Amino acid sequence: MVRLRIVAGSFVLLLAYSVSLFAEVPYTRHFGPIIDRYQAFDPQRTCSPTEKPGAIDFRHIVLGTYTRTRNLGIIRACSVGGTSEHKEGRAWDWGVRVTVPAERRNADDLIGWLLQRDPHGNANARLRRFGLMYMIWNRRIWASYRAGEGWRSYSGPNPHTDHVHFSFGWPGARRQTTWWHPERTGTPVLGPGTEEWVADESAEDVEIEGPFPGTTSPDRGRNGVEEAALRLAIEQQLVPIRDGEIDDTTRYCPPNSLVVSWDMDVEAFKHGGNIAPMGPEPDENTNEVTGIVYCKGFDYAYVGFEAWWDEDNGVWMVLNTPTCD
Ligand SMILES: [Zn+2]
Repeated sequence: MVRLRIVAGSFVLLLAYSVSLFAEVPYTRHFGPIIDRYQAFDPQRTCSPTEKPGAIDFRHIVLGTYTRTRNLGIIRACSVGGTSEHKEGRAWDWGVRVTVPAERRNADDLIGWLLQRDPHGNANARLRRFGLMYMIWNRRIWASYRAGEGWRSYSGPNPHTDHVHFSFGWPGARRQTTWWHPERTGTPVLGPGTEEWVADESAEDVEIEGPFPGTTSPDRGRNGVEEAALRLAIEQQLVPIRDGEIDDTTRYCPPNSLVVSWDMDVEAFKHGGNIAPMGPEPDENTNEVTGIVYCKGFDYAYVGFEAWWDEDNGVWMVLNTPTCD
């Protein structure tokens, strides 16, 4: 009788943990409770096309685990497309296809492993320890600086169905985060604690370090969003009109040709990315909206943006949507 009960108990346990038991994941280190904050949005600002160590070593871990998947590269030429962390050697494209079940499973396993809550209660623990800034996979984006929202729809000329894009903040790219320094995390929980980990795609109380990298406007309604989005595109040169040198100012759309759109067929462009769906056109009661800025007469590139009304400070917060160029 007693023996039977034990068998039945094990069976229930096996069912409960079947996902984590059978997921194929990298070697799992043990850490103490101290963990990195969520990486703030810190987009490309320079041209530095050498592979950074955090990106190299993350690639090594992933390809070593999923040996039938592919490396699609870290570096891109600075002269092509919009801003991208590839041009600073701190983004990596992992070759896995949505249409191949085994590869899709690999992608889901790794992403689930990155987003899990640890035994100390830290949400999205491994993603934070690697210092990841965002990932794009299969028409969706998960951004650490918007971790409370979890996965969001991502649209653009590149659907990310043949690769996962990973971008790192500078601390992760330089191997300064806790994944590379477990000794800084306090006393680790050892043993089979990993079985208690649960899938946890979004988080509450997201604490982000650093200043807000976008623009703001106190003007409620549509005018405020448009003004802040245009200023963002101009100040950060987010809408190029052709290939060319990064510091060639004639490469970017003249400010008076920039247009904000709340519904546009983005597939027509060569470069860009945005949170979908776009719009609707904001009014005095809108609290959150996404749109794009493009250059009148050019289909080379556009920039997506997201805007949310910060009630406490009485301002629109406007941030550009990253691309994978
Ligand atoms: Zn990429």
